[in-house]
Amino acid sequence: MKIAFIGLGNMGLPMAKNLVKAGFSVAGFDLSGAALQALEAAGGKAADSAAEAARDAQVVVSMLPAAAHVKSLYLGGGQGAQSTQGLLAQMAPGALIIDSSTISASAAREVAEAARAKGIDMVDAPVSGGTAAADAGTLTFMVGGDGAQLERARAVLEKMGKNIFHAGDHGAGQTAKVCNNMLLGIIMSGTCEALQLGIANGLDPKILSEIIGKSSGASWVVNSYNPCPGTLENVPSSRAYSGGFATDLMLKDLGLAVEAATDIRASVPLGGLARNLFAMHSAAGNGKLDCGSIFNMFAVAKP
Ligand code: NAD
Repeated sequence: MKIAFIGLGNMGLPMAKNLVKAGFSVAGFDLSGAALQALEAAGGKAADSAAEAARDAQVVVSMLPAAAHVKSLYLGGGQGAQSTQGLLAQMAPGALIIDSSTISASAAREVAEAARAKGIDMVDAPVSGGTAAADAGTLTFMVGGDGAQLERARAVLEKMGKNIFHAGDHGAGQTAKVCNNMLLGIIMSGTCEALQLGIANGLDPKILSEIIGKSSGASWVVNSYNPCPGTLENVPSSRAYSGGFATDLMLKDLGLAVEAATDIRASVPLGGLARNLFAMHSAAGNGKLDCGSIFNMFAVAKP
């Protein structure tokens, strides 16, 4: 089976590499030349454009930053001489699209509907687990689409992930993802506040993390993605907050959560607070750093 993989960033590259390892023929495209070289070094093929990568592919997987990138990839955009044709216009009927980017449920439904009109199946399949799980092929997939479409996607998804959930119809995977990431943003901020309080009161953050990790404040954040440098190896906080889940992507996801709440007149007071905290952190110049760098915002000034 030939797979096109569009978006070879922190998440997409290790996911594409796992597809190569599983024996699929993978053609990838990214705007970054370094990412393309890394895919070739792993045995994939670097394409000059998304359309070239998708030529003759039975499956297209995308892992792009936000809805604007996903819509422009599949639907095209722009006006007049600036207009570009989307992939849907160039793909053969019968192909399958797996979009693993985190975008709004409404954008996912819009692309799925346009794909359906061309005889192309699409599932939204956002992921959780971070770059470590992308590397290890142990991601959690939250899939939106019909059952038959999920079964078509399963052979590809199971080479990149360990848990595959059918959240519901188109867009439902994205709704589940946004709920999860709203909670992640809240837990990340709360964990930073608690760790900094302990540090300011003289505790060793490593010992405090071990205590919380075995107590009622335990979470994936404290145990597997600890934002305090020096507490865990091989996490973004141990490498100056590089190569993880960018603050700006967390901010985007918290914005999606607030938007989803606004659409139905629900209130998400903690999600809104977390969004504001990450917006302040981004505005202070930390947008490209891993979201755990918000740990620094909670540092307690010495009296
Ligand atoms: P990233 O910024 O590292 O990677 C995105 C890649 O897309 C970049 O390499 C960029 O060059 C490429 N790109 C942008 N526009 C493109 C285009 N038009 N054509 C081809 N390539 C293009 O982001 P990431 O951390 O890999 O995240 C990707 C998606 O996954 C986001 O929606 C994010 O919210 C979600 N996500 C990230 C994590 C994480 O831990 N990093 C975890 C779960 C979900």
